Amino acid sequence: VAIARIAVPVAANRLFDYWLPAGLQVESGSVVRVAFGRRRVHGVVTEIVRSSELSPDRILPVQEVVEALPVLPGDLRALAQFVAAYYQQPIGQCFAQLLPPLGAKRGRSEGRRADVVAVEAVKGLEVIELNTDQRRALDAALPRPPSFAVSLLQGVTGSGKTEVYLAAAARVIREDRQALFLVPEIHLTPQLEQRIAAALPGVRVVTLHSALGAGKRLGHWLAAARGEAQLVVGTRLAVFAPLPRLGLIAVDEEHDTSFRQQDGVRYNARDVAIYRARLRDVPVLLGSATPSLESYAQAQRGRYRWLRLSQRAKARAALPSVQLVPNRDPGSLEGLGSSLRAAIAERLARREQSLLFVNRRGFAPSLLCVACGWKAMCPRCAARLVVHREAAALRCHHCGHNERIPAGCPDCGNRDLFPLGFGTQRLERALGQLFPGARVMRVDRDSTRRRGAFAAMFRAITSGDVDILVGTQMLAKGHDFARLTLVGILGCDNALYSADFRATERLFALLEQVAGRAGRGALPGEVLVQTDFPEHPLFAALVDHDYDRFAEALLAERRSLGLPPFGHLALLAAEATSRAAVNSFLERAAARGNALATAHGKHCEVFPPVAAALARRAGMERGQVLVQASERRALQNFLARWREDLERLGPRTVRWSLEVDPPAVG
Ligand code: ADP
Ligand code: ZN
Ligand code: ZN
Repeated sequence: VAIARIAVPVAANRLFDYWLPAGLQVESGSVVRVAFGRRRVHGVVTEIVRSSELSPDRILPVQEVVEALPVLPGDLRALAQFVAAYYQQPIGQCFAQLLPPLGAKRGRSEGRRADVVAVEAVKGLEVIELNTDQRRALDAALPRPPSFAVSLLQGVTGSGKTEVYLAAAARVIREDRQALFLVPEIHLTPQLEQRIAAALPGVRVVTLHSALGAGKRLGHWLAAARGEAQLVVGTRLAVFAPLPRLGLIAVDEEHDTSFRQQDGVRYNARDVAIYRARLRDVPVLLGSATPSLESYAQAQRGRYRWLRLSQRAKARAALPSVQLVPNRDPGSLEGLGSSLRAAIAERLARREQSLLFVNRRGFAPSLLCVACGWKAMCPRCAARLVVHREAAALRCHHCGHNERIPAGCPDCGNRDLFPLGFGTQRLERALGQLFPGARVMRVDRDSTRRRGAFAAMFRAITSGDVDILVGTQMLAKGHDFARLTLVGILGCDNALYSADFRATERLFALLEQVAGRAGRGALPGEVLVQTDFPEHPLFAALVDHDYDRFAEALLAERRSLGLPPFGHLALLAAEATSRAAVNSFLERAAARGNALATAHGKHCEVFPPVAAALARRAGMERGQVLVQASERRALQNFLARWREDLERLGPRTVRWSLEVDPPAVG
């Protein structure tokens, strides 16, 4: 009897054997239903073999084949194998990333006809002619004859990178191939859809992201698999879309951390995209105004084609001027310094828009008793509760804990509690008081929770019904508002204190992106950054929009410390209800790791266990062990062995995971 070796979505790092009942049409890549414990799960057949190491009475049959799905092609299976091996993730869970949503039982949506949306040309938008730099970038990014090549398109905000991705997509689509366009979570806006429609009239486009309903997502997935969809636009999960005629992958804002999946299977979709492009021998185009230092270094070494767009694309559009203004200004009202207030007033008089960026939602990030020093803390996390004034609540942004704002201090009874610091709600209120009559709109996760809310706000902003925007990073990226000429940045200094070595790289990228919202049309833009550290090299580079200078400085520092991209990191993260359990597991893990590293020539260094930056979350005590290696291969070999040990060491009470190339270590 034939045995199917199946990747089953469980945490164990192995495949499972099932026997194949006669008459079932199964091959490598077939998606099947099998019993696992008391559950029924979807698995992917990785190979068919003649015999199993298990005794026949312990093997269960494959129950059925999922008819609605095609056999998964070889490149996707290779992708799952790559993610499992490179990121040290359980093989079955990696294969599960390949599947569209399917009901646990026979899903109602299964087998529904593909939901392919032909995008019509939108009237009133001109289809844009590329400038010389864009054309040069386009030609360089698409080698003739088509083959694998990685290009880094480093272009300032508004330089027309999106037009280059779309023109590249248009080219491969004309050759009857499919294009995959990966964007950060918040980029899937109506504006992008319009631009796609304008640049690629009549092209069949589908989206793939987690906010799509299960039926739609399955339909779009099938449209991609059948080759009907010519362009797939999606978030990180779309990197696993089946694309029989793949001709190009473009990754917008390649540095963005939303390409990194942070729970479940940990992978970076940008890096998976590069691997996939190599497998399929097609070009991949990475774009950013502030490339990740990993990509930047590859371009410097000549491994990536380095394409530059140094000017804004629109006629008369220039990069905004950036000024640093003091945070501690005696004339400050509700956190808004006198320069920023004057700049807003000017915009109001000229009927232009202002954007105030503060990357904290809520009213104030903490509640304090001035009499005794009590602070409102989350009972389940090592974190302060955030004041949400509209809801009269204190909320934890880590675990969702919610409680009423107390009438007085629970420790000393003092009734005068002080909300410390600024969030978007507080700024919104302050602006309403300082500029009566101005139309203020707040855009953050709270104000856009309702379905369709973001789209409605978007329309209001573009049609000029808003004077001042207050928002978090939801507003930082991708948007193009023609009358927005002022960006004010508040409360960004915190990141300069962070223990995470990537914090300044991320802060620069974020600030450059927010700054990039100003002056995108014909009107010149101005950016005011309120800071206590105007001398910091980060701000000096921001003022000059000189990412290269900043990147070079960071790279020199990283090189001397053996940090990425010169060294390689992995993190063992563990959590348990008791601190003692976490510590004892991590100590044994580190000891074992040290022994392994010593035995293998010390290419890897295992650091002592430390508490995580957020030491407790949702009642779980958290800790970590960092591993630093001088060579990628040494790290991979080390991790493969170490993981086997960890699987033996790990008590049931401790949840642990390995993170290769962790996005943050502080
Ligand atoms: P980026 O993706 O680099 O931020 P975009 O592609 O969004 O830049 O382009 C910024 C603005 O410039 C958009 O409004 C776009 O329509 C316009 N644009 C892009 N390329 C050109 C061009 N060649 N000529 C005129 N306008 C352009
Ligand atoms: Zn008190
Ligand atoms: Zn909490």
